[in-house]
Amino acid sequence: MPVEIELAQSLSHALELLSSGDPEVRPLAGATDLMLRLEAGRLKAHRLVSIADLRELSWVRPEGDAIRFGAGTVVADLMRHPEFAAEYPSAVAAARQFASPQIRNRATVGGNVGNASPAADLVPPLIALGARLKLSSAKGERELPIEEAFLGFGKTTVRPEELITEVALPRRRACFQAFAKFGSRGANVIAVVNLAMCLEVDGERIASARVAYGSVAPKPLRARAVERFLAGQRLTEELAREVKEAVLSDISPIDDVRGSRRYKQRLAVNATEDALLRALRGAQA
Ligand SMILES: Cc1cc2nc3c(=O)[nH]c(=O)nc-3n(C[C@H](O)[C@H](O)[C@H](O)COP(=O)(O)OP(=O)(O)OC[C@H]3O[C@@H](n4cnc5c(N)ncnc54)[C@H](O)[C@@H]3O)c2cc1C
Repeated sequence: MPVEIELAQSLSHALELLSSGDPEVRPLAGATDLMLRLEAGRLKAHRLVSIADLRELSWVRPEGDAIRFGAGTVVADLMRHPEFAAEYPSAVAAARQFASPQIRNRATVGGNVGNASPAADLVPPLIALGARLKLSSAKGERELPIEEAFLGFGKTTVRPEELITEVALPRRRACFQAFAKFGSRGANVIAVVNLAMCLEVDGERIASARVAYGSVAPKPLRARAVERFLAGQRLTEELAREVKEAVLSDISPIDDVRGSRRYKQRLAVNATEDALLRALRGAQA
């Protein structure tokens, strides 16, 4: 069946075009994921509402104790924004390892969240940094922590009549941040495992920990057991070695074309240990 494409002229026009709530009417942003899924028959749609050129969705704005950005901001613009880059090195590291320059110039943050891939690279740092999403529809707005946007592989809690319009990140300059991505090659690759961490270290102790993984569960994962294990502890080499059990209790990777369950478990454990050791060296410097 042919697919119609409507070019939204404004955000309110886009919301009106989506307002029927028909799940086969889909927003189209950079099209770097949606068109592939459509071609492969893995997504059903009879109408696409293009939001690609909406300026109202493409901006980055530092505001008091947060930095906000429009969900239509492309990955390349986000990583180039000086205040964003200074505040969130983990997200910038993820953006640098994201696909290729061509894709980074088209792919949006909203699309990275909206396709709900467990391997999405921007999502773990956004979870670890405490991102909140604004969802808008013709009827109103709501907000939710980003980790609550994911139900399972390719499934989100974003309703068909809603658009992700905005992402808000609390300031995190005081936080030790890490991002790691493992793939079969250096660029243009889907993560076998990725990890993001945001640790607040007060003297020798970890005051708070936020940790997230990709590709180790049906959806991007906030690692609550790891966070509980780390919070309040002294940051030491022993702690880094002992984190393994908590990591393994959080994650549930499967054997697939990108690697075995055991291999992914080892990557996740080693990446977590390595990030903690780097945090320790940073705290001692
Ligand atoms: C060659 C190649 C390499 C890639 N490499 C990577 C990589 O390294 N890391 C990675 O994470 N991804 C990668 N991807 C996947 C893809 O580029 C990203 O997921 C990208 O962020 C999708 O954004 P988009 O704007 O193109 O979304 P689209 O393809 O337009 O949309 C994706 C999904 O999100 C929905 N959507 C889009 N915007 C919104 C919104 N504002 N509100 C609600 N729903 C929305 C759409 O309806 C659709 O279901 C790659 C893709 C290709 C083709």
